[in-house]
Amino acid sequence: MSYVVPVPPQASLAVQDTDARFPVRRIFCVGRNYEAHAREMGNDPDREPPFFFTKPADAACDTPCTIPYPPLTNDLHHEIELVIAIGKGGANIAPSDVMDHIWGASVGIDLTRRDLQAEAKQTRRPWDWAKAFDLSAPIAPIKPIADVPSLTNGRIWLAVNGETRQDADIADLIWSVADHIATLSESMTLAPGDLVMTGTPAGVAAVVEGDVITGGVEGIAEFEVTIGPRA
Ligand code: MN
Repeated sequence: MSYVVPVPPQASLAVQDTDARFPVRRIFCVGRNYEAHAREMGNDPDREPPFFFTKPADAACDTPCTIPYPPLTNDLHHEIELVIAIGKGGANIAPSDVMDHIWGASVGIDLTRRDLQAEAKQTRRPWDWAKAFDLSAPIAPIKPIADVPSLTNGRIWLAVNGETRQDADIADLIWSVADHIATLSESMTLAPGDLVMTGTPAGVAAVVEGDVITGGVEGIAEFEVTIGPRA
């Protein structure tokens, strides 16, 4: 096989305790999946079905890292999220079968250009420019599911320059991992390499050049991300 332009490198993420890497196929992100965050964004959290948006595979990057402050924004926000790594594909997966499709779990940031998102919401345009920019998904090394203590409870937290900003528990997910991945698989055939970013708890806020962001999910993974000068 020959190609008319260079073949893109396979996007991938580090895995804990091995040099082997997790190949990233797609990144699905859940919107509004913690009640207090839905409220802080001015939405009614009551049982709206889960909805999704995406980031390109190569938005994923290993941590620790330094990410340049991205273009076109003056309001870059952190959103810490539990990340699920899919190991076995499928469509119309029953909630009770979802665990069989999960390879591992980690934690990352759904970096968001909040000013562009506000404009997109107001003008009923897509969220891509707010969410899907370069390096918008720094993610800690993935932990194999056999070593993950729980996907239904555990502290999730994020700090900026040592000051805690987001502090919640994944037990507070409106739609559990089993439920939202089952729903996702009704509209897309999931495949090995897919990632699901499961939504952020309350406390999202802006970061600026020079900020050091740390965060984690208890028993799963932790990260450190530095915001560099504008690209
Ligand atoms: Mn998010």
